[in-house]
Amino acid sequence: MKKLSEQSTQFGFDFVALKSTFEAKYGQSDEQLICSLAPARVNLIGDHIDYNGGFVLPCAINRYLCILVRKNSSRTLSYFAADLNASFSFSIDAPAKYDEAFGFANYLNGCFAYLKESGFHADSGFDVLVSSAIPIGSGLSSSAALEIAFILAVAELFHLSITRTEAALLGKRVENKFMGLKSGIMDQFVVANAVSHTAMLLDTSSLRCEYIPLDLQHSDFQNGKDYSLVVMNSNKPRALVGSKYNERKRECEKAFAILKQVFIVPDLCSLMPQNLSRAEYVLQSACADKDEAAVLFKRVRHCVVENDLVKQAVAALREKDLKSFAEFFTKSHASLKNDYEVSGAELDSLVSNAIKTEGCAGARMTGAGFSGCAIALVETPKVPAFKKAVGDAYKKECNLEAEFYVCDTVNAAAVFGL
Ligand code: ADP
Ligand code: MG
Repeated sequence: MKKLSEQSTQFGFDFVALKSTFEAKYGQSDEQLICSLAPARVNLIGDHIDYNGGFVLPCAINRYLCILVRKNSSRTLSYFAADLNASFSFSIDAPAKYDEAFGFANYLNGCFAYLKESGFHADSGFDVLVSSAIPIGSGLSSSAALEIAFILAVAELFHLSITRTEAALLGKRVENKFMGLKSGIMDQFVVANAVSHTAMLLDTSSLRCEYIPLDLQHSDFQNGKDYSLVVMNSNKPRALVGSKYNERKRECEKAFAILKQVFIVPDLCSLMPQNLSRAEYVLQSACADKDEAAVLFKRVRHCVVENDLVKQAVAALREKDLKSFAEFFTKSHASLKNDYEVSGAELDSLVSNAIKTEGCAGARMTGAGFSGCAIALVETPKVPAFKKAVGDAYKKECNLEAEFYVCDTVNAAAVFGL
């Protein structure tokens, strides 16, 4: 395990201050202090298809969640979320439980419970501190960062051998079974496996991935321009995301149950675009409720179109043609808005204002949607004017302040001694 200098500024944390917060909470000790850092992620294109066997193209960005852990001399496991000023503790010999009232602790309890289920035995209690610069509940996957950082920290502390893919699958299981969100594998997989200066082309049906070069800062792209990846946070308070997400998943399952009787495909994303009109006919014939059939068809069309857009976007990215690459963002947003119906007035306002601002090559919502963040590729010299124009228009239309983060792509989660 590499040692992290307390003076390190690379991750955006004051490690001297974090260590003293940890010691103020849990006291001094000779036990090794371990620091686990996990990045946020954005999905560049391919949303809501990671649970339909599609291709997705996420990358990790330079905003981190940090977990400090250290063994203690008791049988107690304690968590402290510094950003929320919330604490939780329980005996490692008792079952780790879910309870809505436990809040953030549920994610960690879920990871701990499933690690135990897979044979892990903690020989002592331990203390945990969480601190993060990833906005919570904004679609940049603070929850996946929390899960992966915790799993890797526990693995290091107790010398468990767990692969990155196992860690990602465990985190996904926590979201699906412990938290009840029927999400796909993308978030945990990219947080656990990202490589800087690349986007990850992940085939969610096989978990095979390929790293596509995406050097935003120092390249001379085909059209001679440098672009910046700008994340636009709508700052819209979250509501109903989980239930709407699960509703989409159910709709896709229903559509697939009907279509697989006619088409020999392993998942919705494997339908060929030229078979869409036949799929529409099959759904209309199978459903007594024709409105429902129309809704199911729109969900199916999104899966097929979005999966195709990912492939086309990747072809442009391989050519280092970022302008064309970003044009697929805008097409993808339309599909998420009109067919999958997971956008919202705020994300639509950010995207529509972004694409009409000079220097923006394309924009789309990213992640689960409804609220949260959108992304844009913007010519680097035009970023300040872009932020002002989009921020002002958004304020006028939605009466909310947007936040903008210009991001670099970074490596996956990592564990250090401190
Ligand atoms: P997203 O993953 O898009 O940020 P989620 O709703 O999936 O949003 O996950 C947010 C949840 O993750 C929070 O409600 C909290 O329970 C947990 N979480 C995220 N960041 C932190 C943090 N810094 N400290 C404690 N818990 C956190
Ligand atoms: Mg999440």
